[in-house]
Amino acid sequence: MKYERIKNFIGGNFTPIVSDKLLAIHSPIDGMPLTELPCSGKYDLDKAVSAARAAFLGWSKTPVKERVQVFFRYKFLLEKHLQELAALGSEENGKTIGESIAEIEKCIELTEFACSLPQLITGEVLEVSKGVECRTEYVPLGVVASIVPFNFPTMVPNWTIPNAIALGNCMIIKPSEKVPLSIGRIAELLKEAGLPDGVFNIVHGDAEVVNAICDHPGIEAVSFVGSTAVAKAVYRRATQNLKRCLALGGAKNHLIVLPDAVPDMTAQNITASMSGCAGQRCMAASAMVGVGAIDHIIDKICAEARKLIPGENLGAVINKASQERIERYITEAEQQGAKVLVDGRRVAVTGKEDGTYIGATVIDFVTPDMAVAKEEIFGPVICIIRANTLDEALAIENANPYGNAASVFTQNGGAARYVMEKASAGMIGVNIGVPVPREPFSFGGWNESKFGVGDITGKSSIAFWTKLKKSTTKWNAEAGVNWMS
Ligand code: NAD
Repeated sequence: MKYERIKNFIGGNFTPIVSDKLLAIHSPIDGMPLTELPCSGKYDLDKAVSAARAAFLGWSKTPVKERVQVFFRYKFLLEKHLQELAALGSEENGKTIGESIAEIEKCIELTEFACSLPQLITGEVLEVSKGVECRTEYVPLGVVASIVPFNFPTMVPNWTIPNAIALGNCMIIKPSEKVPLSIGRIAELLKEAGLPDGVFNIVHGDAEVVNAICDHPGIEAVSFVGSTAVAKAVYRRATQNLKRCLALGGAKNHLIVLPDAVPDMTAQNITASMSGCAGQRCMAASAMVGVGAIDHIIDKICAEARKLIPGENLGAVINKASQERIERYITEAEQQGAKVLVDGRRVAVTGKEDGTYIGATVIDFVTPDMAVAKEEIFGPVICIIRANTLDEALAIENANPYGNAASVFTQNGGAARYVMEKASAGMIGVNIGVPVPREPFSFGGWNESKFGVGDITGKSSIAFWTKLKKSTTKWNAEAGVNWMS
C-alpha cells in the first residue's frame, strides 16, 4: 500500500479505527493500491461526538472575528499546499491534475467567504418602544455532521467546513469511503491554522456510520451531499430524529440549444460540461435538448469530444462498477434505436490498463423514455434529444424529476429569459455549461436534487448552521404597562 491504513481524526489526533470491515482503496488512474479503510461504527462515532461536544464549550464562546482568523490562515495553507493537495485528490479520485487544481481553488474561494462572515452576521437592533430594544444574534447549533460524496474529495467538504465552523459549530465529517485520503490533509492544515482540537473531527466508514450519525442524540444537524436515494434516506432518518437536515441529491441537467446559438462557444461549453471530471459532477451536462436545425452544432460537439484523450485530458471514472454501469447505459440506448456518434466504450489507456476510463460519448436521437435520458449516468456522456419547439424542450426539462441545473444556449435574450423563468431547476445558465453560482451566491438545486430548506453554501447557509436568538431589553425606570406588556 502506498499510504498507511486510514485513521479517524478525533480530538486533534489520528486515531485507529476498530473494525472487522476493511475496504481496499485503489487509484482509478491505474489501479494502484493506495490504502485500506476500516469502517467506523457507533463506538468511534461516540468518541468523536464527545470530543466535539467538549470543544464546543470554548469554540462557541470565541468571538466570530477570532474564529475566522483560523480560516484566514487555512486559506494561505491551501494556497501553499495547492499542488500537493491537487495531486492527492487526483490520485484517489481519478480526475486530471488541472481539474484537481480547480477544485482546490474553489476551496480557497469558499474559505474566503467564511472569512467574511463577521460582516454578514451582525444581527439587528431596534428601539421598538421608548427605552425598549429588540435585538437578534446568530447562535451556533452545537455538534453538526457533514456527510459527503466521492466526486470532490476536498471541495464538497469545504462547502460545509469553513462556514459551519466559523459560525461557531463543531463538526464531524463522514468522507466518502471511496476517497478517504485528501480529508486527512485538510484536518492537518486546519490544525496547523490553529483550529482547537475537537472542533473538527473525521469519522470514516460507510452506511452504518451514516445511520449512526442520523440517530446520535449528541448531533444537532446533518448536511448530506450524494445520490438522491441516499439523500432521501438520510433526510428521513435525521428529521425523524428531530435533527435539522439539508440533503443534496443527484442530478440530470438539461441543456437547451437553439439554432441561433454561437456554434463554437456552445460546442466547447457543452463538451466541457459533460466531460469535466469524467462527467462525475452534479452540475454536468447530461441531456442536451436541441430545438430545430442544430446539426451544425452537434458536428462541432463531436469534434470537441474527439479531442478528449482518456488518461491525458480526460480523467478516469471512480471504479470498475461505475465504468461498467456507464457502458451499459450507452449499449442499452443503442439497442433501443439511439445513434452513438462518438463512442467511448472499451477504451484502452496504454500503461494504465488497470485504470477505469470511459471515452467522451455523444449519443444522438435519444428519446425521453430511454433510461439514458431519465437517469443520472455520472460519466462523460451527452444524450441528445430532438425537439421541434422551445416549449417542447422545456416540457422535456420540466418532466425530469431532478432540478439541480438547466442551461440554454442562444443569442436571443427573450428566449433566454423565457427559459430562466420556465426551467424547473435551482441553478440556471445562459450560454454557460456549468452554472455554479460563485460566492457569495449560494449552491443548491430543487426537486429531487435537494431536500430541506435553504442552500448549502453562501449567504443561504448561515440560516442552516445557526439559530436566531431574539432578546428584548428595557433599560428605563418608568413605571406603567402598555398593550405589549
Ligand atoms: P452516494 O450517495 O453513494 O454516497 C454519498 C455518501 O453517502 C457517502 O459518504 C457514502 O458513504 C454514504 N452512503 C452511501 N450509501 C449509503 C446508504 N445506503 N446509507 C447511508 N449512507 C450511504 O454518492 P456518491 O456515489 O459518493 O456521489 C455521487 C452522487 O453525489 C451523484 O448522485 C451526484 O449527483 C451527487 N452529488 C450531488 C451534489 C449536489 O450538490 N447536489 C454534489 C456532488 C455530488
